[in-house]
Amino acid sequence: KEELNIIQGALELRTKTVEDALTPLNDCFMLMSDAVLDFNTMSEIMQSGYTRIPVYENERSNIVDILFVKDLAFVDPDDCTPLKTITQFYKHPMHCVFNDTRLDAMLEEFKKGKSHLAIVQRVNSEGEGDPFYEVMGIITLEDVIEEIIKSE
Ligand code: ATP
Ligand code: ATP
Repeated sequence: KEELNIIQGALELRTKTVEDALTPLNDCFMLMSDAVLDFNTMSEIMQSGYTRIPVYENERSNIVDILFVKDLAFVDPDDCTPLKTITQFYKHPMHCVFNDTRLDAMLEEFKKGKSHLAIVQRVNSEGEGDPFYEVMGIITLEDVIEEIIKSE
């Protein structure tokens, strides 16, 4: 039965999209780009437990970088290093996908890429003005695997 569920889950990757599996932007642990890596900030990062942390400028929907916790290995909280110093040094590429990307395609992307996190965007054409890209949240390899194994 367990095996059947997993097979079922794998088959459903073709019908589900990234939007079904993402972590909504409001639930994301993120940092402001002008943050300072003092003791408080570094403690919050460690307590969050996340490995990859989106960095935003001005508003949360404007993600400009990804911080990896391992980037902090040489950072001394007493130095109060600006977060920008670290993100500009590592410059991890940001990977964006659209909300309607199928999960099987997403899994392939994660398998071939180096990054296991992508930022999910959609085209918002609801208002009166021109359509614009809107960040909905983030998706990781773990979210896709979760869809495979959770299936009832
Ligand atoms: P790893 O397991 O590679 O150390 P992680 O534990 O930080 O990484 P994942 O295992 O990739 O994260 O994802 C676990 C869950 O946490 C997923 O649902 C993912 O969407 C979510 N997630 C990942 N990073 C964040 C973040 N910065 N804020 C909120 N949720 C996150
Ligand atoms: P993350 O992607 O969450 O930053 P990571 O890159 O350190 O973590 P994983 O992505 O979990 O590691 O694993 C990638 C591959 O590297 C796997 O085959 C894993 O078994 C291997 N691996 C992980 N840690 C080590 C290690 N300390 N020494 C050798 N191989 C490792």
